[in-house]
Amino acid sequence: MTVEVGAQALLALPAVLAVIASGVVRAAAPSLELDVELDPGTRRFHAVALVAPAARDFRFELHQSLQVTAASADGKTVRVVPAGREGPIFAWQVQMPAGAARLRLEYGGMLPALDRSLDDRGVLQGLPLMASSEGSFLSAAGAWYPQPAPLFSYRVTVSVPDDQRALVPGRLQSESLPPGGSGRYRASFEFARPAAGVDLMAGPWVIREKIMPRRNGGPVRLRTYFPRELDAIAGLVDGYLDDTRRYLELYGEEIGAYPHTEFSVVASPLPTGFGMATLTYIGAEVLKLPFIRATSLGHEVLHNWWGNGVYVDYSRGNWSEGLTTFMADYAYKERESGEAARAMRLAWLRDFAAVPAGHDPSLASFRSRIHGAAAAVGYGKSAMVFVMLRDVIGEEAFRRGVRAFWEEHRFRTASWSDLQAAFEKAAGRSLASFFGQWLNRAGGPAVTIAHAGAKAEAGKVRLTLTVEQVAPAYTLRLPLEIVISGRAEMRSIDVGRQRDVVTMLVDAMPEGVRLDPELRVWRVLDRAQLPPILRQWVIAQAPRLAQASGVEDVREAAVALAKRVFEIPPQPVSQDALNMGTEPVMLMGLHADVDAALAHAGLPPRPASLAGHGSAQVWTIAREAGPPVAVVSAKDAEALRALLGPLPHYGAQSWLVFDGRRALDRGVWPAPGRLIAVQNER
Ligand SMILES: [Zn+2]
Repeated sequence: MTVEVGAQALLALPAVLAVIASGVVRAAAPSLELDVELDPGTRRFHAVALVAPAARDFRFELHQSLQVTAASADGKTVRVVPAGREGPIFAWQVQMPAGAARLRLEYGGMLPALDRSLDDRGVLQGLPLMASSEGSFLSAAGAWYPQPAPLFSYRVTVSVPDDQRALVPGRLQSESLPPGGSGRYRASFEFARPAAGVDLMAGPWVIREKIMPRRNGGPVRLRTYFPRELDAIAGLVDGYLDDTRRYLELYGEEIGAYPHTEFSVVASPLPTGFGMATLTYIGAEVLKLPFIRATSLGHEVLHNWWGNGVYVDYSRGNWSEGLTTFMADYAYKERESGEAARAMRLAWLRDFAAVPAGHDPSLASFRSRIHGAAAAVGYGKSAMVFVMLRDVIGEEAFRRGVRAFWEEHRFRTASWSDLQAAFEKAAGRSLASFFGQWLNRAGGPAVTIAHAGAKAEAGKVRLTLTVEQVAPAYTLRLPLEIVISGRAEMRSIDVGRQRDVVTMLVDAMPEGVRLDPELRVWRVLDRAQLPPILRQWVIAQAPRLAQASGVEDVREAAVALAKRVFEIPPQPVSQDALNMGTEPVMLMGLHADVDAALAHAGLPPRPASLAGHGSAQVWTIAREAGPPVAVVSAKDAEALRALLGPLPHYGAQSWLVFDGRRALDRGVWPAPGRLIAVQNER
C-alpha cells in the first residue's frame, strides 16, 4: 500500500519517511547538504550542494556573484533555467526528474567585499554577502545557497585557510586543522531540526571552549570565536562563557530545556548584534562594552527559544521581539528594582507619545524584524502587552502559558494567535478581547478621571469615579492610587465604555486619586506623566537659545554648546521667549544671571537638590503651559565649555550635575501624574 503525504504534513513531521506514488522511498523532509570552500582573503567561494527540495518543480535563489557550473540529479544532468531577479538576487528553476530524490549543484564565484559602512540595520536586512580576512558574513537572506523549502534541515562542511575559523548554526560534528600550519581548517555542522535559513560566518578567530554539564539533555559546548586582540583581554572570554551559561540555565528553567548542544559568542567586524540558533554574532567593538553581558547577551541567548526556536511568520506580525524584550531586557530591569522597570515602561510610553497619531501600525500588522528607532514603538508596545497580560492572568498562569507555547511550537512557525491559545489554556478563559484590542487596533487608549466624589456611608466612605476614554473604548483593568491622610493605597478598576462610573468603599475620606501611577497600562500619557528630558530639546525642529549672561566669553561658549546639543542650529532669542511661543527654549548662562532670568520670567527657581553642586547644572522645567524650558547654568565660561563633549550624550535625563566634563549625578524628574482631588459630597 502506498500513502502520499502532502508537503504541509511533511513540514510538521520532518522525520517521517514518505512513500511516493512511484514506489520509490525517499527522505521526505526537505534537506540541504553543503560542502563549502571559502577563501576570505581572495573572496573566492565554491560549493557543492545536495538538495532534497520540497517539490519536484524546484525554484531557488542565488546571489548574482554566484554561478551554477554543474547540475545533476541521480547522475543525470538537469537544466537550470533563469526565473527572474530582484536586485542582486537571481531566481532559478529546475524540473526534478521523476523519482530523483536529490539535486546536485556545483556553484561558486567571487563574493562582494566587506562593507564597513553597514550598520546593524543594513546587516539585519540581510541583503549583502561579504567576505574579507577580517571577517566574512553570508546571511541566509543573501542567497548564498539553494534553499530547499521554507523550513529544512541541513549539514554544512566549511573549509577555510588555516588562519581562519568558520561556523554555521548547529551541532558541531567534526573539526580539523592539519598540523604544520599549512593546511585548511575544516568543520562540519548539522542542524537536524527544521531551520528557516543558514548563516555562515568566518573570521581570524581564536576559539575558546567550556563544557557546561546539564541534568537533562547532555552537556552544552560553550565557545567564543574572538579575534586575537579581543581574546587577549583579561577575563573577557571567561566572562562571556560564564554569563552565557547563566542565561542558558535561567531560560532552560523558565521555558524548557535549551534545545541545542552548543552556544557560541562570535565576534563580527561590523557593529552587529543579533542572535541565531546556537550562537550570537556581535560586533568586536561592542563585545568590549561592559553592559553587553548584562543585557544584549541574555537577549540574544533567549532568541534561541523565541525567533530561532519558535519561528516567526513576519507577514503575520512579529511577536518574538516583544516576548524576548519582556523576558530579557525588561526582566533584568525588574530584577534590578521596581524603579528601573518603571523607567523602562516610561521610555516605551514616551516613544509612543512622540509618534504622531495615525503613524503607528497595529501590532498585528507590525512586521519589522529590524531593531531601530522606527521599530521602537512596535517593540515597546509588544513587550508591554506581555507586562499587561501577566498582570491580567497572574504570574503562575503566565508561566504555564509560556512553557506550553514552547512545548507545542518549538521548531515550527507560530503567530500571535498561537500565543493567545496557549495563554487562554493556561488561564482557563478567553483572552479574545484582550488580544483583539492590543493587536488589531493601532495607538492606545486615552483615559482620564473626569470626576471623583466621596460620601460617608455606614462608618465607611463610598468613593465614586467617573472615568472617560476616547471612543472606541478599550476594556481595561486600571491601577488606581487612592491617597488617604497622606498614605497611598492601590486598587484596580475595570472600565470598558466611553464613560464608566465606578464605586468602591474605602476607610476614610480620600484627598485624591491618581490613575496608573506606575504606568502598567499601554496608553496615551498626559503631560503630567511625561517628565521633560533633554532629548526633547536635542531633536526640536525649531529650537531657541536664550542667553542669561552679558559676558562675551560666556555667550560664545553658550552658542558653541547649543550648536553641539541641538540637531538643528538654534534661533537666538531674548529672555522674553521663556514665556512666548511653543518651541523649546534653552536658557544658558552663569549661576547668578540664570537665577535672575528665571525669577524675572516667573519660572520655578533652581531646584534645591542641584544648587551648590558641581561646576555646572542642567535641568528641565516641567510646566503646565508655555514653551518647554531647559536650563544650563555654569560657574564660569570654562565650566560651560567643558559640557561640549558630554552633554549631547545625556538626552534621556531631566537633570544633571557636572564637575568639569564629568557627570556627578543625573536623573529623570518623578512624574506620577496628576492627583485628582476628591469632592466631599456629604
Ligand atoms: Zn531581538
